[in-house]
Amino acid sequence: MILEATTPPTAPGASQELEDEFNPRLSAEARFDRAAAQLGLDDGMQKVLRTPARELIVHIPVMLDDGRLEVFTGYRVQHSIARGPAKGGIRYAPDVTLDEVRALAAWMTWKCAVVNIPFGGGKGGVVCDPSLLSPAELERITRRYTAELFGFIGPEIDVPAPDMNTNEQTMAWIMDTYSMHARQTQAAVVTGKPIALGGSRGRAEATGRGCMIVTDQALRRLGLERSATRVVIQGFGNVGGMAAKLMARAGYRVVCIIEWDGAVYNPRGLDIVELMKHRAETGSITGFAGGEDIEREEALFLETDVLLPAAKENVITSRNAHRLRTKILCEGANGPVTHAADTILAEKGIFVIPDILANAGGVTVSYFEWVQDRQGYFWNERTVNDRLEEVMVTSFQDVVAYADKHGVNNRIAAYMLSLDRVAQAIRLRGIYA
Ligand code: NAD
Repeated sequence: MILEATTPPTAPGASQELEDEFNPRLSAEARFDRAAAQLGLDDGMQKVLRTPARELIVHIPVMLDDGRLEVFTGYRVQHSIARGPAKGGIRYAPDVTLDEVRALAAWMTWKCAVVNIPFGGGKGGVVCDPSLLSPAELERITRRYTAELFGFIGPEIDVPAPDMNTNEQTMAWIMDTYSMHARQTQAAVVTGKPIALGGSRGRAEATGRGCMIVTDQALRRLGLERSATRVVIQGFGNVGGMAAKLMARAGYRVVCIIEWDGAVYNPRGLDIVELMKHRAETGSITGFAGGEDIEREEALFLETDVLLPAAKENVITSRNAHRLRTKILCEGANGPVTHAADTILAEKGIFVIPDILANAGGVTVSYFEWVQDRQGYFWNERTVNDRLEEVMVTSFQDVVAYADKHGVNNRIAAYMLSLDRVAQAIRLRGIYA
């Protein structure tokens, strides 16, 4: 059952082993260890790469709408600035921890390095429950958090972006607050801004588009044609919805979409634009006239050519990986496969496009946004898409070349490539003392 498999086993009696399997930080560390060993990185370099460069904790007083004064805790971690300014989102959630932010910041370092953009990795968070806060309260939290971060973030230092529960509006407030303190408009301090404030064309589609580009490359490698390729997508949000729309338009046969409340299937291919309309009208993908409703718990295991999990982490685990019937697994979501499931996928010969490569289209167009802001010259959408394609194709080829050369799977190859690039930057810069 997907539900069972995607829910962290926090119930009494759940084994430590399973809890560990569902811990994304431990999965990332296990992959880091393998890649570092394979590269033969010395202990000192491993220590540097494991340790965040800078961390800031702020406790910010904010006046609530009812006149009460509340104190919120915020974090910003810069894992690495060896290859350029730190880059990574800011999330608002009640359960954000410093440890989680640290792990996500490191993840961003590897993601930026795998697509070879001149950024390090960072991440931020504010401990708050956005569902209990008014827009005015969220604005005051955002502005005070930004004011506290002034000097720690900046276009040449650390460039935040949206993440869980933050969006274009949040970025506009950060940009404005930062600019007020700098006494000049500094659009490049954040990415993911509204286009009217220096955001990039093509950003909204970028992650889904990147997934399609790397899947195209995998098809070429396996000798498959788009028109004969069935695709199953889990998650019909920003990443999955865009990937579905673009892939269907490009000639793929998107046969199944899986959402939290059901799954819809059509072996001849779903009309994705119509399915989007149906969801907008009814609030659900189920009951769609152009397909049949099927059990969502089974849909992940349909026979297909491409499976694109684009919903959440820990979907494919040691408990269900053996049931997958796909040739290609393109990881649109972050961490959809646990470390323990990697071996099973390798044994089954599934061609995995790992998350740090597959969903890096978003951060790549964020980089383009930063470049455009600093140039003060904005590109048309075709230019953005063409340059995204160039980056994603090159990165895919770099990863598979590493996999072939070192005899490792694509995920370890992606980590090796990233670690190698960051380690090389550190070596070339030298250790300042
Ligand atoms: P989103 O909220 O827009 O979409 C997620 C979708 O998945 C929603 O429609 C939700 O209903 C659905 N979903 C949730 N739980 C599900 C379940 N158990 N089964 C089936 N569907 C389920 O989020 P998003 O921006 O598309 O992000 C999806 C994933 O991609 C996350 O892991 C995110 O970290 C990762 N990611 C996103 C971007 C980006 O640019 N948006 C970039 C890199 C990585």
